[in-house]
Amino acid sequence: MRWAQLTLVENDPGHYDPKFWLDYFRRVHADAACLSAGGCVAYYPSKVPFHYRSAWMDKSDPFGDLLAGCRSLGMVAIARTDPHAAHQDVYENHPDWIVVDAEGRPRRHWADPEFWVTCALGPYNFEFMTQVHQEIMKLYKPDGIFSNRWSGSGMCYCVHCQRNFKAAYGMELPRTNDPRDPQRRNYILWRQQRLFELWRLWDSEIRKISSDARFIPNTGGGALSELDMKTIGELADTLFADRQARRGLMPPWANGKNGKEYRAALGRKPIVGIFSVGLEEPYRWKDSVQSEAEIRIWVADGIANGLRPWFTKFAGTLRDRRWLNVVEDIYGWSYRSERYLRNEEPLARVAMVYSQQTATFYGGEHARPKVEDHALGFYHALIESRIPFEMVHDRLLDPTHIDRFKVLILPNIAALSDEQCDQLRQYLRRGGAIVATFETSLYDEWGVPRKDFGLADVFGARYNDRIEGPMQNSYLTVEKDAATGKHHPILFGLEDAERIINGVFRVDVEPIKNVRSPPLTLIPSYPDLPMEEVFPRVPHTDIPGLYVHESGKSRVVYFPWDIDRTFWEVMCVDHGKLLRNAVDWATNEEKTVTVAGPGVLDVTVWRQKNSMTVHLVNLTNPMMMKGPFREVVPVGEQRVHLQLPTGQKAQKVQLLVSGQVPRTRTAGDSIEVTVPSIGVHEVVAIDL
Ligand SMILES: [Zn+2]
Repeated sequence: MRWAQLTLVENDPGHYDPKFWLDYFRRVHADAACLSAGGCVAYYPSKVPFHYRSAWMDKSDPFGDLLAGCRSLGMVAIARTDPHAAHQDVYENHPDWIVVDAEGRPRRHWADPEFWVTCALGPYNFEFMTQVHQEIMKLYKPDGIFSNRWSGSGMCYCVHCQRNFKAAYGMELPRTNDPRDPQRRNYILWRQQRLFELWRLWDSEIRKISSDARFIPNTGGGALSELDMKTIGELADTLFADRQARRGLMPPWANGKNGKEYRAALGRKPIVGIFSVGLEEPYRWKDSVQSEAEIRIWVADGIANGLRPWFTKFAGTLRDRRWLNVVEDIYGWSYRSERYLRNEEPLARVAMVYSQQTATFYGGEHARPKVEDHALGFYHALIESRIPFEMVHDRLLDPTHIDRFKVLILPNIAALSDEQCDQLRQYLRRGGAIVATFETSLYDEWGVPRKDFGLADVFGARYNDRIEGPMQNSYLTVEKDAATGKHHPILFGLEDAERIINGVFRVDVEPIKNVRSPPLTLIPSYPDLPMEEVFPRVPHTDIPGLYVHESGKSRVVYFPWDIDRTFWEVMCVDHGKLLRNAVDWATNEEKTVTVAGPGVLDVTVWRQKNSMTVHLVNLTNPMMMKGPFREVVPVGEQRVHLQLPTGQKAQKVQLLVSGQVPRTRTAGDSIEVTVPSIGVHEVVAIDL
């Protein structure tokens, strides 16, 4: 439930105080540890040839000593290896173990020119590192081996990569990054096969020596991650999300997003969130320490989203001790609240689909703006709307994975196979609902354009073979229903607006059937300068800016424009309202949880064995969209309205962070809990 990682630096042995660390692990109730063992630098007396031993360890065994210490505390302890770099003697004796760049030159390490970068797909990993892992297992029998930077550091043109790729696909290695180039496409597939092969090899060698132990690679993530999460979910019994802190324009909910993305593939298996107590900016500063408020918000959002916390500290010698009490405090709370943090399942009824194939084959080098920005925009709209939600992997659209959700959101999931489109159609037939945007299903699973949407029948819209944009100064008319004279519920809160701003890109589509009265219609772009000329040339059209359909319990909303991506870029309030209303309308059932009150909160809802919890993470902060938080800004009273499982009664209600017993009111199967105020995090815990 609580992990500790001490990543030793080479000169730690003899200089740092292992007793201090073991005492700290005990004090914070850490029940698992990850300890530096080998790879670039060995911290035990390794006998594997070319396995470089720390020049400072002399005859000592820093890894073995720490491992024994953790064991005496009853902790789970795993060994860390890092195979991504090697010393000069490796280069001289095994030049074929080193990465070769596109010009045929062996590649020195980008940060430390004493080192060479190793090829992940050749004998360095498959043979040498296998021996290292076997040796660590034989000597120490740790509970597992965690490998950092095991999957390579960019493209490699070494003899092994050339030969093995040719043997597999009969081709030379790719020279372009275009995922539609057959060489590149096959390379993407081959590299994954090769890495999964390596994972299986190391895992089986580890299990031969200790059947309960596992190989645990540092891998996984969302749409932009490289290895297929469906396969990862099948291979891994546990996994660690290595997103140590935020950087640049990253909101604090990004840590919770990791939890959702990993859970989509791993289900109920334990997922751990690695957080750094230091900064995570491109300039590194590995010896730094974050502000207390920043550490707290990042970890709280992870815990609220089902991540088990794992602190990582580089170097055993402390140069800044300010983080120690913060982590001790968070972990102490986690220890005392553990019963309510052992989640059985999330109770969210909404899920957002993410698609690695869309990012890889449709997005390619532009996956961030073309794919991920759509997801981020929709994600942020759901946070602002306080809608608890999960994420779903697009290769797991079977009933077991999606039928517990009432609504699936497809934020520009452009690349979908015929089979995936059919799975979505069947989901609708079973009473599900879909909210989709922009080019969803306009490409097949390889990113090859289709003549029309794979889901044209679902959207009720046909593709007119044109994407328009970037559009300047385009709008949408807010329409009343021609028959009833009323606004569609998706326009709630926009009734007084005659028109709202459009997105930046739109898909030119037309209705398959006659659309009686679209809720939004297009006002095409018109000049935005000179000011004298800023008036609409076409003041009104009947071109729908929104498609809504209803059939039985199932509902479909399709936005033929980039509302989610534009929301991420421009954050227009009206777009946020439209996204919230679209999800609410599609949900079409009583909500599991609503939270009313001021501020921006990440809301999650969980079921444990004999209880349920609602996590409220207070993101309200002037530094919310760019860290780090300077201080915690508490928000005032929140009223949490929660549906209890049918036939269950609330036996006891607590606020796990403040420790208060809140005011409650029950009515039938629901309960209303008043939370007086939230600092960083509050958890409403209800014993059933
Ligand atoms: Zn290679």
